Amino acid sequence: MRPLRAEIRLHHLRENYQTLKHLHGGKLLAVVKADAYGHGAVRCAHALADLADGFAVACLEEAVELRKNGIENPILLLEGVFENEEYEAVDQYRLWPVVASQWQLEGLLQHDWQQPVKVWLKMDSGMHRAGFFPHNYAAAFTALQQSGKVAGVVKMSHFACADDADRGMTEMQLETFDLAVEGLAGEESLANSAAMLAYPQARRDWGRAGIALYGADPFLENDPRIKPVMRLVTSVFAERVLQPHEPVGYGAAFYTKRSTRVGLIACGYADGYPRLAETGTPVAINGHRSRVIGRISMDMMTVELNGSHEGLSAEVELWGDDVNVNEVAQSAGTIAYEVLCNVKRAKFVYIE
Ligand SMILES: *Cc1c(COP(=O)(O)O)cnc(C)c1O
Repeated sequence: MRPLRAEIRLHHLRENYQTLKHLHGGKLLAVVKADAYGHGAVRCAHALADLADGFAVACLEEAVELRKNGIENPILLLEGVFENEEYEAVDQYRLWPVVASQWQLEGLLQHDWQQPVKVWLKMDSGMHRAGFFPHNYAAAFTALQQSGKVAGVVKMSHFACADDADRGMTEMQLETFDLAVEGLAGEESLANSAAMLAYPQARRDWGRAGIALYGADPFLENDPRIKPVMRLVTSVFAERVLQPHEPVGYGAAFYTKRSTRVGLIACGYADGYPRLAETGTPVAINGHRSRVIGRISMDMMTVELNGSHEGLSAEVELWGDDVNVNEVAQSAGTIAYEVLCNVKRAKFVYIE
C-alpha cells in the first residue's frame, strides 16, 4: 500500500476549539467549509458536535452534507444563497443564511418561511468583497426586523488584514462597523482566527474560527496555544548515494554539492503537496529535520537523508509536529489554507 497518509488528530481539533472559544468568549462557530480545510468536514463536525455552538460552511451543498450525516448544530452559510430558490432548502434544513447582497435580501423577504429564520446580515466595512455598504446597512437591518420572518439578525463583517497587525486596516474596519450599527440591537460577529487572536476589540457575541481551529497560526509564529491537527506522513521507498555535482529530478534543478544520500518518498503535487516548494523546504525524517531537494514530481519527491541511520522505510513527515504547515506554504509562496485544502489521494486516518 502506498504509505502516504493524513493523520487527523481529532483531540487536537477539540482542544483548539475549546482554547479559541475561551479566548474569544461568547459563542464560536467552527468553520468547516471546503471539507474542513481539507481535513474532512463530516468527521470533523462529528468530533466537535457536542462542543460547537454551530458550524459555518461556504454553501448549501456543504450544509446539506452535514445534515444528511446527522449534524444537528446550527449551520451558517457564509456566502448565503447563490440563487433565491435555495431558501426553500435553507428553511427545510434549518440553516442560517448570510445576507450580503440586495438580491439575497429581497429573495429572503419574499420567501414563504415555514419557521422564522436567523439571518446574518453582512456589512462591507472596508474589505470591498461582499456585504452592504455602511450607509445602506441600517435600512437592510430594519427591513429584516420588520418583516416578521426572522428569528434574529446577527450583525457581521469580515476583516481584510486581521493577520497583519501593523496595517491599521482592522482598526478602521472596526470603527466603520461600530459607527454603522449604532442603535441597532442584537448579536454581532466580527472575528476570524487572526482577529480573535490579535484584536480583543473584535471579540463580540460570535467568533468564526477556521485556520486556527486546524492548528495553523495565521501569524506564522507557531502559537503554542493551538495544536496542528493534520500530520501528513509518508516513507522512504528508495534511496541512492549521489556523487558531488550530480543533478536530481525534473529540470535538473538541483545539483549535489557533496556526496549526498537521497531518499525517494511517496508524495507529490497530485497529493496536494505544493509543486512550487523549493529545495530546502523542511521535512522531518524519523523526527529529524531535513529538506526537500529538487523539484516536486506528481507522485514522488526527493529528500536529503541525514545519515546512514535514515534509509528505506524511514518515516517522513511533510508537515505536522516537527514541520509546521506554514513553513511549507511559505516556501511555496502560498498560505497554509491553500496547502491544507489541497490534500487529496492520501489515506485519511482519524485519531480520536
Ligand atoms: C473562512 C471564513 C472565516 C474563517 O477564517 P479563518 O481565517 O480561517 O479563521 C471567517 N469568516 C468568514 C466570513 C469566512 O469566509
